[in-house]
Amino acid sequence: MMNANAARLPSIDRLLRCESVAPLQQRYGRDALLAILRDLLDELREPARSGQLAAVELSEAVLAGRAGERLAARHASRVRRVFNLTGTVLHTNLGRALLPKEAIDAISQAARYPLNLEFDLASGKRGDRDDLIIGLIRELTGAEAVTVVNNNAAAVLLALNSLGARKEGIISRGELIEIGGAFRIPDIMARAGVKLVEVGTTNRTHAKDYEAAIGPRSGLLMRVHTSNYSVQGFTASVATRDLAAIAHANGLPLLEDLGSGSLVDLSRWGLPKEPTVQEALRDGADIVTFSGDKLLGGPQAGIILGSKELIGRIKKNPLKRALRVDKLTLAALEAVLGLYRDPDRLGERLTSLRLLSRPQADIRAQAERVAPALAASLGEHWQVSVENALGMIGSGAQPVARLPSAALCIRPQTSKRLRGRALRELEEQLRELPIPVIGRIDDDALWLDLRQLDDEPAFVSQLAQLREAQA
Ligand SMILES: *Cc1c(COP(=O)(O)O)cnc(C)c1O
Repeated sequence: MMNANAARLPSIDRLLRCESVAPLQQRYGRDALLAILRDLLDELREPARSGQLAAVELSEAVLAGRAGERLAARHASRVRRVFNLTGTVLHTNLGRALLPKEAIDAISQAARYPLNLEFDLASGKRGDRDDLIIGLIRELTGAEAVTVVNNNAAAVLLALNSLGARKEGIISRGELIEIGGAFRIPDIMARAGVKLVEVGTTNRTHAKDYEAAIGPRSGLLMRVHTSNYSVQGFTASVATRDLAAIAHANGLPLLEDLGSGSLVDLSRWGLPKEPTVQEALRDGADIVTFSGDKLLGGPQAGIILGSKELIGRIKKNPLKRALRVDKLTLAALEAVLGLYRDPDRLGERLTSLRLLSRPQADIRAQAERVAPALAASLGEHWQVSVENALGMIGSGAQPVARLPSAALCIRPQTSKRLRGRALRELEEQLRELPIPVIGRIDDDALWLDLRQLDDEPAFVSQLAQLREAQA
């Protein structure tokens, strides 16, 4: 039954011609606009027929507004910038290292123009993409050769498969690690076709354990930096230097996976010292693998360094072609490595190092500055204070080391019973801000560690929206 007063739905054609809809077509294209308008009109047809809608709800302007909102939501980027206020600097789930300006410029240049990716400008002949960084690698580490792949997991897989397939790989039981995302050394070895031979015990492995395991089927010795946990107490492991001597006496290569791997001694910036790539090479490791986006502070990549002969074998492996890096990664990596030529300025220029070494007093001063605006936005049900906090490097580097930092500590002023829920709701509201804010809940409070708050104005200006959510 038609309601005599029922407001009528406009036709699609009429909507397309009206002046509030036209800009949407410009912006999102005709197909996307048509699809949204059809959905909208379909949904409104029944309520309109039964007279539940006022004429204004079916006006062109209102319909255009609703279509615009839906299009904007559907077309919004799913890759979102966030504020990482977790206190963990190289946060794997939040994209690890932030690139320095030099690397961002290099990426943009490489994206925009043709480049000599695999073209030797001197001879005019075909080139090799790894050669773009070999000069820098030699200068910085002394390594004879290098090859770069997608990440360090790929580097380990490729090196193991190239040097140890159908042979035995000897490794300490204390180094059979799992890294997040199901990367486990025994599984990687199996996939690489290397037969795992475990030696020693979880807490103690000696030179004689390796020596006893070496036989005619041995292919390599492996050492893995136990990056994401620490074994303390009654422990023993064999140093790279001694392990290399054992390997070489038996004509075997030593492969060392450094995980984070740094090119500089981080204690210079007041950070805990990680084993450096140069030390591993100097101590006799034949192949060293490490990540590009952990302590190195560069793009996601796996860097494999070592002897020319072994790297040559690795590069001939067909898997290398499947795991190689693209031009944007190489451009960024070259720019980041370039910064290491001047260690004196590295602490200011390399973004990740600048953040990792940011002084606590500096972070605290920023927290004092920002706290009043946050307290005002949250209102009387919350207490905001500035507290010292302990952050982490992240990405498995130095798992027990803590970075002295400062945080905004937000406590709900409610009964203990309601606190957990209030905190989870606040956490959600922070994630719903235009630039989502990621903190952490601990000890009945929400903590925002400000070590990585670079863009203070953007953070402060969106706090007003929190007030609306709280109201
Ligand atoms: C992080 C890590 C890896 C994996 O590196 P990705 O770059 O994340 O693939 C491998 N080995 C060790 C020891 C690590 O710490």
